[in-house]
Amino acid sequence: MNLLGNHVQRDHCGVGGIAALLLVPVWGWSSSALFWLANIFLDTDHYIHYLYAHRGNNPWSVAAMFRYHQSLFEQAGRPDFLVLEIFHTFEFLGLLGWISFFFWRPLIPVFWGSVFHMVVDFFHLSYHKVTFARAYSFVEYGIRRDRLKKTISASRTDSSTMSLPKSKH
Ligand SMILES: [Zn+2]
Repeated sequence: MNLLGNHVQRDHCGVGGIAALLLVPVWGWSSSALFWLANIFLDTDHYIHYLYAHRGNNPWSVAAMFRYHQSLFEQAGRPDFLVLEIFHTFEFLGLLGWISFFFWRPLIPVFWGSVFHMVVDFFHLSYHKVTFARAYSFVEYGIRRDRLKKTISASRTDSSTMSLPKSKH
């Protein structure tokens, strides 16, 4: 099991499971279970990202998806690193919170489970000193991507070797 597999098992399944158990007296079993599942399944966007990056390439293997994200994670310290995971964004969480609190309250545990996931990720990424490698907003992603493109084209004319990060697998 690689580093990311460990992170999902220990942090999202384990720590998230403890948090969900502590919520049982407040929310009951079904809402706490929803909290726990949302806290794990927020990471399905990593699979969507993988499928998109490998489209046309019969990319369905979950093991290959873990390898892909492991190799991205190993490059996260690079100055030209940039990824966006669509559920790990202010826009997605804002939309989820808005729907949960104003339109469909049964979603509230899903919202808090997602927020809990982000907090756990924050500590995990900070521990590895790559807290802000990932973009946390579509707007941030757009701005950083444009900036990177400019840096890359400028460095190309400087005949440097800078390039966008690529999967090694
Ligand atoms: Zn995550």
